[in-house]
Amino acid sequence: NLSLKKIAEEKHFNAFITVTSKEAKFLAEKCEKRYLEKKPVSDLDGVPIAIKDNFCTENIKTTCASKMLENFVPAYNATVCQRLLDAGAVLVGKTNLDQFAMGSATIDSSHGPTKNIWKFDNENFYIAGGSSGGSAVAVATGTCFAAIGSDTGGSTRNPASYCGLVGLKPTYGLVSRLGLIPLVNSMDVPGILARTVDDVVSVLNVIAGYDEKDSTSRSKPFRKIRLPPASKMSIKGLKIGIPVEYNCEYLSQEVADTWNDIATMLKNEGAIVKQVSMPNTEYSIVCYSILNQCEVASNMARYDGIEYGFRADEDSSTEKLYATNRKIGFNEVVKSRILCGNYFLLTRNYDKYFTKALKTRRLISNDFDNVWDEVSLLLTPTTLTEAPLYKDYLQKANHYKLNEDYCTQAANMAGIPAVSVPIKLSKNGLPLSVQLMGKNLSEPVLLAVAKYIENIV
Ligand code: GLN
Repeated sequence: NLSLKKIAEEKHFNAFITVTSKEAKFLAEKCEKRYLEKKPVSDLDGVPIAIKDNFCTENIKTTCASKMLENFVPAYNATVCQRLLDAGAVLVGKTNLDQFAMGSATIDSSHGPTKNIWKFDNENFYIAGGSSGGSAVAVATGTCFAAIGSDTGGSTRNPASYCGLVGLKPTYGLVSRLGLIPLVNSMDVPGILARTVDDVVSVLNVIAGYDEKDSTSRSKPFRKIRLPPASKMSIKGLKIGIPVEYNCEYLSQEVADTWNDIATMLKNEGAIVKQVSMPNTEYSIVCYSILNQCEVASNMARYDGIEYGFRADEDSSTEKLYATNRKIGFNEVVKSRILCGNYFLLTRNYDKYFTKALKTRRLISNDFDNVWDEVSLLLTPTTLTEAPLYKDYLQKANHYKLNEDYCTQAANMAGIPAVSVPIKLSKNGLPLSVQLMGKNLSEPVLLAVAKYIENIV
């Protein structure tokens, strides 16, 4: 009830597309009974959780912030959602996003933009980041304990960074994608947003692990992570790499300084911090965007408004009906990615773009494999700047927006885990963060060091 009350109070931030009041009340009553009988089913029993609106939820609308799916009610729960419910968590609502998770701001939504809570001014607000901006703001406003986002190129870490939260992108395949409406199948992972690393861990422990219904799910049994208290941890001798190529053109001075300060702090705490080189980083963002658009072109083909999805009032021909459904059902970002992706996939362009991007992706992945011979973790910025003002962001050129994923998308291309950790406020009073990346399935050490950082800053 408190959570639902808070959601109503914080409505102006526009974090939620659907508030599941009825379901939440029903679930909460069941939890209360278990509580009275002293039989909680897990650490998350009775805990309010929000889920991004691109995860299927049984009998609850799942819109992807689009006209195309505005009335789509799935018949089943995404595995992530089901596992949370089985653990007794209370779903309080579905959160806002950029349409079909394409974006880094949560402004390209049929539900309107989500607003950052920092330095809030309703007329002149800062963006929340995205595409899981609704999930970030749901947590930041205190309406829920944690929220599920998705992360294809940075969509969980970017809003975590802009909103001052911890944001985890797990290893590809560690958390099931079943019921996560696909953007880029080879890169998508469910992500977690919460206030502290310990909170993230408690959610990860519930949602991670093999799912026979997801063919890309890792079959290795997942061992629950138990982090020691920060005071009992030591990072003496731990090798941490600073990839020089991440010091890129658009990095703001304050983010660069924060990155540097954390590197120095870790060194003072006994870690071995050294510069490393990842020579293919500069090709990463272009390669990501080609592969993204190719997979988008193929994934979006299913939305024709015939089987399901928005159907226009158009009966002159079937072809026309398809076209009108898609013209009205998708926003400009989605349409342009479909067009570009199909262009890259034309027979005459296939080798020139798609095959080449696949090869480059391999090189980027190899850069990470090579670096793990030298260091255990990498420390980089998460976002290049603090959160921009909404009105400034609208003016930014496309190349700026493309570069927003500069530090985050390589982890998706390589499949490795990465976490964004909030550090401090900028001079302007907005959150600044750093990112840690580790090799596949290194979540236990990655999150331990994240917690360590959280405690020394
Ligand atoms: N900003 C990136 C994009 O638009 C990342 C999206 C995501 O991670 N879902 O593709």
